[in-house]
Formats: sequence, C-alpha cells, structure tokens
Amino acid sequence: MSSINTKALEELKDSKVKLLIELGLISHYQMRTSCIGSFTDEMRSISEQLRIIDSKLYEASGASIPDKSSGKCPHCGSSSEGKFCSSCGSDIETFYSKGVEQCSVCNHNVSAGGQYCIACGSKFNR
Ligand SMILES: [Zn+2]
Ligand SMILES: [Zn+2]
Repeated sequence: MSSINTKALEELKDSKVKLLIELGLISHYQMRTSCIGSFTDEMRSISEQLRIIDSKLYEASGASIPDKSSGKCPHCGSSSEGKFCSSCGSDIETFYSKGVEQCSVCNHNVSAGGQYCIACGSKFNR
C-alpha cells in the first residue's frame, strides 16, 4: 500500500513539469543572450521554435511594435517612409531612437524602459 495518495502524486508531477519549464526557460534565455555554454543543435532548434512561438503570440496580442525596416508607422500602422508619419503625423524617428528597445532574447521591439520583455517575458539586465 502506497503511502502517497493520488492528489500528492499529481502535485509532484505538477511540480516536476513546472521545474522542467523553468529549467528550459533558463536554458533558452542563456542560449540567446550569451555565447558561452555548450548547447546541442537539438537544444538550439527547440530554442528557435520557442522564439517563433513567442513571435506569433506577440504579434497576435496586438501590442507589437513593427520593425523600423518594415516602413510602418508604429502608431497607426500605415506605410510611412519619412521622419514623420504621413497619415497621423507622429514623430517616427524619435520614437525608434528613444521609445523602443530590442529584446536580446526574442529580438522583438518593445517599449523602452520596462523591466521585462512583453513579448517573451525575459527580464532585462539593467
Ligand atoms: Zn501614423
Ligand atoms: Zn523578448
């Protein structure tokens, strides 16, 4: 007769999954932010798949900031090549030079000054 009940077993399994996820996330961030460490091609491929999923989730959230090279206004989304948006008049150049930073883990543009990347959840080193 086992001394451990089903509920306790489920909790142990839950804890295991959570710890594995945590370990995986740490590896993922490490792989993307530093060149040291020995990671296999398989690990790198999983990390890349994670990045792509983060990318899709971020774009679907509607909060994503377009790449400067996309030529899209970050405020209204219309195509705009100039310093200022031709549709809404916002200062695109200043926005990209001061208001945006790129996450080193997922490479997404996020609003500058935050503690965490809103696209992938990594903490910024400041
Ligand atoms: Zn605009
Ligand atoms: Zn990120």
